[in-house]
Amino acid sequence: MIKNLQDTTTLHNGVKMPWLGLGVFKVEEGPDLINAVKIAIKHGYRSIDTAAIYQNEEGVGQGIREGIQEAGISREDLFVTSKVWNTDLGYESTLSAYEGSLSKLGLEYLDLYLIHWPVDGKYKEAYRAIETIYKEGRVKAIGVSNFHIHHLEDLMKDATIKPMVDQVEYHPRLTQKELQSYCREHGIQLEAWSPLMQGELLDNEILKGIAQKYNKSVAQIILRWDLQNEVVTIPKSIKEHRIIENATVFDFTLSVEDMKAIDGMNDNRRVGPDPDNFDF
Ligand code: NDP
Repeated sequence: MIKNLQDTTTLHNGVKMPWLGLGVFKVEEGPDLINAVKIAIKHGYRSIDTAAIYQNEEGVGQGIREGIQEAGISREDLFVTSKVWNTDLGYESTLSAYEGSLSKLGLEYLDLYLIHWPVDGKYKEAYRAIETIYKEGRVKAIGVSNFHIHHLEDLMKDATIKPMVDQVEYHPRLTQKELQSYCREHGIQLEAWSPLMQGELLDNEILKGIAQKYNKSVAQIILRWDLQNEVVTIPKSIKEHRIIENATVFDFTLSVEDMKAIDGMNDNRRVGPDPDNFDF
């Protein structure tokens, strides 16, 4: 059982990835961003999820440098993820996108590098570049984001290294059961983005009822449900009390019935685009 914020899942190449991390989507460069990263590290977070398209890798890097110094830990104690954006999906362009992310973050390596979206006809070349970076030992783990089963199958026809992670939209209204069992079968770790449905789920009556029973917040119930489903989760907040709240999910266990009740909320609702139908 997952006992604390530093507990990890072991990816299929043996690399350890924290079950819970901080997301920073839509957080602009500046003090709020730097502080959020520092606060998270101070309160025990060891995983940070960013992407080139968020245009905040410099601040994330600064938050990491200051955060680890204050916490007295080292870079190796952290798990940093970034993603190659759609306009850079190509062999050479992905290689240079990786260098660009490293230099903005001010890091020597990333722990996880993902293809952000499965752009038709482009993701295989990008993945080949990511495999090269991996084989050269310059990234600890590689994977994809927003890949449906058919995207994964198509990718794996030509890939020499199975992706270690698929980061997708996942929350009680989009439980992705088929994808999850597919990933399990293939040793691919599922990771949830927008676990709180960007806040939309927080006044849901079913979740509020369950939250009351455990004396927890709705956010904590959802994040605990992620963990009990063995899905890595990366809630975003820039507020210290919520950064703490979102990480206080290791001191209770949802019953089988409550897990089922939450699973039962699924109606395949998305806050983000469907990976089969996006135009960016
Ligand atoms: P989340 O589901 O994490 O929700 C974030 C929102 O909820 C923010 O408005 C935040 O506000 C609020 N919030 C956070 N914690 C609490 C709480 N305890 N109580 C009340 N409100 C809360 O949405 P995201 O879309 O940010 O997803 C998380 C991360 O996933 C992203 O930051 C990003 O790293 C990643 N992601 C990846 C995508 C991909 O395509 N691969 C797409 C989208 C996201 P506040 O900050 O004010 O607390």
